[in-house]
Amino acid sequence: MDEFNAYVETNAERFIEELKGFCRQPSIAAQGIGLEEMAELVRARMEKLGVDVRLMPLEGGPPIVYGELGEGRRTLLIYNHYDVQPPDPLDEWVSEPFDPQVREGTLYARGVADNKGDLLARLQAVESYQTTMGKLPLKLKWIIEGEEEVGSPHLPAFAAEHAELLSADGCIWEAGGKDMKERPTITLGLKGIMYLELRAHGASSDLHSSLATIVPNPAWRLVWALNTLKDENDNILVDGLLEHVVEPTQAEMEMLAAIPFEGDMMLANFGIPRFIRGLTGIEALKKHLYEPTCTICGFKTGYIEQGTKTVLPRTAMVKLDFRLVPDLEPEMILDLLRKHLDRRGFTDIEVVTGHGEHPAKSPPDAPVVKAAIAAAEAVYDQSPVIVPLMAGSGPMYPLTQAFGTPAFSTGVGHARSGAHAPNESIQLDDYYQGIRFIGELIRRFGTV
Ligand SMILES: [Zn+2]
Repeated sequence: MDEFNAYVETNAERFIEELKGFCRQPSIAAQGIGLEEMAELVRARMEKLGVDVRLMPLEGGPPIVYGELGEGRRTLLIYNHYDVQPPDPLDEWVSEPFDPQVREGTLYARGVADNKGDLLARLQAVESYQTTMGKLPLKLKWIIEGEEEVGSPHLPAFAAEHAELLSADGCIWEAGGKDMKERPTITLGLKGIMYLELRAHGASSDLHSSLATIVPNPAWRLVWALNTLKDENDNILVDGLLEHVVEPTQAEMEMLAAIPFEGDMMLANFGIPRFIRGLTGIEALKKHLYEPTCTICGFKTGYIEQGTKTVLPRTAMVKLDFRLVPDLEPEMILDLLRKHLDRRGFTDIEVVTGHGEHPAKSPPDAPVVKAAIAAAEAVYDQSPVIVPLMAGSGPMYPLTQAFGTPAFSTGVGHARSGAHAPNESIQLDDYYQGIRFIGELIRRFGTV
């Protein structure tokens, strides 16, 4: 790979200029800004590589950029997204979010870590490979969407409809990077999510609170229902839910033991004295990654403005999210929750379905994961930290595990990249290493 690495070094400046060009184009999914333009930039860049690339329109959403390149025994699917989060709050940016600037070896711009850096590093790795090593030893497939930051609403249906485009022997997911100790990480899965609302209804209008003697209060009703969902020790009490939770294997516990968990730093950052159940170290990490959650995200009822208003509310509503570990599924949560409430006489509590995503997890001995670990060892001169499951969620399942494709995630970010936050950044050295990692991955997965 010497020539490959030399090519990356020679072209380092141009690669960064290209990345700045990508970051200059706003592409904000939440506001529908610049998405078509960004999709076209990506398409054009891929065409320059010789990728058989096309924009696939979505009804009611920005197009998916789909591409194929190369031939070989194996196929690697690459997932990225070209949309970014809104840049707010603007006054907290040191330089403008869509005017990329390098300061002390770090490139600042909205979307540079999430996810344009990874998107482009992978394309530049292919350019470097083809120029210095010749033909690709495998087939690459790209699926690049423009709605990841708003929950990929059209992706599951697209995946189900175009299964043949997604067939692959392995997938590299969108992002990731170095941890707090500058160690490369490889992530093997994500939690799923079920977002929903519970609504309780009372009288047909808000009433004078003196009527609370004889008129039911939907706010209390909702509190009583909520009280059956979780106990004070953070155990989820929804009937049958925990039966579907898979405990970590011995091998996974060994992976957990190798993950640095900065408990004290987190406590200080969050301004709390202790974690739930007083957990520390690997026990806290195990709960964080392997337990589902049932979280009250918002509660709305009655009068909450300044001063006094004695009112008996007409309605009460709570927004809940459940983060799902294997083998929980979003539809299962809705079903279990409905039955749980009905069994306790809460048939009047309405369950309103929101966004749902399946959890996704890949085996650590999958060939694509092994190739990734070997590639990381070659590039970073150290073993990567393997994270079996991330606490967050994403649309990995419908694109990969639903078809039996193992997937992993890593990227050019670092622990303080600030995705979604002001002054989002990547370190230039991480970027060049990220390009080299993709080169190694292509060579190893294609030839081993
Ligand atoms: Zn994001």
